[in-house]
Amino acid sequence: METPGSQTSLHRANLERVVRAVRMAGSLTQAEIARSTGLSAATVSNIVRELKDGGTVEVTPTSAGGRRARSVSLSGDAGVVIGVDFGHTHLRVAVGNLAHQVLAEESEPLDVDASAAQGFDRAEQLVKRLIEATGISQDKVIGVGLGVPGPIDVESGRLGSTAILPGWQGINPSEELSGRLGVPVYVDNDANLGALGELVWGAGRGVRDLAYIKVASGVGAGLVIDGRVYRGPGGTAGEIGHITLDESGPVCRCGNRGCLETFTAARYVLPLLMPSHGPDLTMERVVQLAREGDPGCRRVIADVGRHIGSGVAHLCNLLNPSRVVLGGDLADSGELVLGPIRDSVSRYAIPSAARHLSVLPGALGGRAEVLGALALVLSEMGDSTLLQTGSDTAQAVNSLGTDQRSAPAFT
Ligand SMILES: [Zn+2]
Repeated sequence: METPGSQTSLHRANLERVVRAVRMAGSLTQAEIARSTGLSAATVSNIVRELKDGGTVEVTPTSAGGRRARSVSLSGDAGVVIGVDFGHTHLRVAVGNLAHQVLAEESEPLDVDASAAQGFDRAEQLVKRLIEATGISQDKVIGVGLGVPGPIDVESGRLGSTAILPGWQGINPSEELSGRLGVPVYVDNDANLGALGELVWGAGRGVRDLAYIKVASGVGAGLVIDGRVYRGPGGTAGEIGHITLDESGPVCRCGNRGCLETFTAARYVLPLLMPSHGPDLTMERVVQLAREGDPGCRRVIADVGRHIGSGVAHLCNLLNPSRVVLGGDLADSGELVLGPIRDSVSRYAIPSAARHLSVLPGALGGRAEVLGALALVLSEMGDSTLLQTGSDTAQAVNSLGTDQRSAPAFT
């Protein structure tokens, strides 16, 4: 038994700090580990040696700023994590190792709204097929991150709004999938996973305060504050789509009028262009036409950008993020939408709240959510599975929200 404050428990805490830093970054030099954990270079050096001897980390030579350095990453064969992303029209699965390498990835079309049972059948099959394809034994799977296109109710673990996915009524996505796969499943909504994906692998690398804004059938934001996703006590943080822009504007599905969503989401924007561009228009097509110079599509995308920018300005005043990353189809229109977003931010945000802000398109496209699902497992898995000596192997099934501030314990 370890006594809190004893040498043994301090040492254990230091081991966990180093493993967590490496786990979230993919790989770090020893100097970077020292900076991010606050431990001395000598302590880091000793801990890395111990972790290497125990097979938890791998150390490879690298160069940092022209100087020789040692890059530390979690051992590639220490285990794998799996990401499953249910979009509205697709299912995407990725398998990654703890060194942040994606070993396999595949997506297939799926009408997610139709039936939850059918969706989970397909997810189970695809996960098992990819595990088999990578030649990894099932017992190496540490956990699964699961993305669903709607808010998750923290208390029940179910979807917070059945209006978004009517076919999923009464389903607990985390229990459903962990029952089929026999491993812990962590579940979160698409905006939060997009934020995590871009933070760990994409346009948010290197920052600690970020908002990922996803404009699709709805508009949501994933908020990262000081390196962690902020979900709020009910799991509803980041509903930027329901900021009021016009009190006498169109009625929104939330019951209010003139929400940001009613000026930016596809189902409100596409009808503006249908009289001139035909009824079969998609957002992807509007973006393509705008890039080719179509004036109507350019005008609509610029208006959408200005409205998103108003929302981002509110966000800047409240949270002062250093980066805003735009996801969804709209991001492919590049400066056509980013320019107007920046214009609105500089008009409506307090100058000091926006001074250090960069607004970028997502770097991961449609992969942001599934990579975020991998990152979710890396973020929440806890380190006892990596550092254990064989005495404690019990696993727990978790849906996020029971206590998101500390990683769920596996022991
Ligand atoms: Zn609304």
